[in-house]
Amino acid sequence: MHAATVLAQLDHYLDPETGGLVPSIHPAVTHAPPGDAAMGTGSTASRYARSGNSGATVAERVLAQLEGGAAAAVFSAGASAAQAVLANLRPGDHLVLDSAAYYEFGAIIERFGQRWGVTVARADMCCPETVRQAMRPGETRLVWAECPSNPLWRVPDITALAAIAHQGGAQLLVDATVATPVLCRPLDFGADLVLHSATKYLNGHGDLVAGALITAQAGAAWQEILASRVAHGSVLPPFEAWLLLRGMRSLALRVERASQTALKIATTLATHPGVGAVHYPGLPGDPHHELAQRQFLGGFGGMLSFEIAGTAADALAICERTAVFRRSTSLGSTESLIEHRRSTEGERSTCPEALIRLSIGLEHAEDLIVDLQRALSGMRRMAEAPLAEMI
Ligand code: PLP
Repeated sequence: MHAATVLAQLDHYLDPETGGLVPSIHPAVTHAPPGDAAMGTGSTASRYARSGNSGATVAERVLAQLEGGAAAAVFSAGASAAQAVLANLRPGDHLVLDSAAYYEFGAIIERFGQRWGVTVARADMCCPETVRQAMRPGETRLVWAECPSNPLWRVPDITALAAIAHQGGAQLLVDATVATPVLCRPLDFGADLVLHSATKYLNGHGDLVAGALITAQAGAAWQEILASRVAHGSVLPPFEAWLLLRGMRSLALRVERASQTALKIATTLATHPGVGAVHYPGLPGDPHHELAQRQFLGGFGGMLSFEIAGTAADALAICERTAVFRRSTSLGSTESLIEHRRSTEGERSTCPEALIRLSIGLEHAEDLIVDLQRALSGMRRMAEAPLAEMI
């Protein structure tokens, strides 16, 4: 079944009690199933809400199906999903982390990893040889990649990474927040776990923080992840689960539209005299285009970046001049966002200083293109104007 169909109907959802075609919200913390007088029988999940809730269960079923996984778990944030995975590393374990991983994950892992006795090596996931060299056989438990990676939207070869991880006795986790299961299913290429910040495209309306993990196998390691979620109290709560399900119903359509618009914008920017480089795997000249074509299903996503022929100050000025794009961070919502990525990431950022990151939303492509052209033409006028004119 196509992702669009699974999503639109939430896996042919039918409320077992009401016959409703959308799930209801069940906020009860504790449950007393009829006929189950003996406390201690029945699953904890059906008794106490820190273990799960009916909305979370529906989202998990849909996500597992979309990703072709054995099971899924939804969390109160993408960061909580990450924590649940990291909580299962032990002192002495080693982790190979994408050098382009979401910058806060890098900071979290470096900060807490030391306390846990976990060591971390950063590696370029688009260069499998570097990953192979970073592996420590017998110690490396996890390889953590992002597809595509932020903010250059580079696409790692998931099949190659899975082979390297497995040869070294490790698992491969792919953060596919940006690709979404509509465009890429990492488990099909051999990954063991998929992570999503459901805050982004899965919900898609900029009004919810949520996370998800999907596993290829629901064995002992997965049970530990679920146990960690219960221990941390990080399951996605009922109201938030309902909101996520509501957002997910239109995911396929939103991703399709954002991908189409992003390609139009990338193509326009690529010929603009004020733009030095455009980073978008959908462009035929992009170094990651061929791999993206093989790994992605019918689109290249709504995220792109471009570097202007100018300074960080010029890039910031362009962000300020846009009138349709909203100047803010995050991604995957209905409104298009523009940001100077290096300022967002802070001092330790390795992001090119004149790089502008765009998250494409659902506005009309023409309005976004005209907005960028206006902002960029301001830059040319500034660059070309004699100093006296500018003062
Ligand atoms: N993964 C990626 C690629 C992200 O961009 C983010 C947040 O921006 C996260 C994970 C963390 O997710 P959350 O903010 O939902 O905790």
